[in-house]
Amino acid sequence: MKRPEFTIQAHPPCSNTDTVITSKYGNRKDPMDKSKMRFHKGIDIAAREGRMAQNFPLYAVADGVIHNVNTSLSSAGGNQVTVKHTTTEGRVFYILYAHMSKILVKIGDSVRPGTVIGNAGNTGSRSTGYHLHLQLSDDKGNTYDPTFIYQYIPPVPMRPARTITTQDSLTHYVL
Ligand SMILES: [Zn+2]
Repeated sequence: MKRPEFTIQAHPPCSNTDTVITSKYGNRKDPMDKSKMRFHKGIDIAAREGRMAQNFPLYAVADGVIHNVNTSLSSAGGNQVTVKHTTTEGRVFYILYAHMSKILVKIGDSVRPGTVIGNAGNTGSRSTGYHLHLQLSDDKGNTYDPTFIYQYIPPVPMRPARTITTQDSLTHYVL
């Protein structure tokens, strides 16, 4: 069976001992209007027990280049950073961080796994509390559930980056 694979050096996007995924990828009730269903293109990650409820540092997940920075606080995602990643196999994917309080990078900056790109926050017209919205897409704009990246990183935030490789069960996530 043909098994697409990619390999990246990966670091969690934020502490994954102090945070928890509060909203999954996929269809959900619109948090701004609970009478409507709306597709959630990423995952939401918030502080676990009020600790670090704001301003927790956000890290680049893999080697990459800052592709876009948005500081329009009236936009849906508020302060946002998009990082462009290229896998060892030459596939390109993008990771978007939304609702940030502070941005510490600019377009064109190179990042390593674990480079601090800014802090989580509560900016943008579609944020209802301090959290990170993390979104994974390919170069055609298709979005994917980013949870697999998160799951394949051990729950220890400050360890060195490790290599993750997709497996059979994850092939539907492969870009
Ligand atoms: Zn979200």
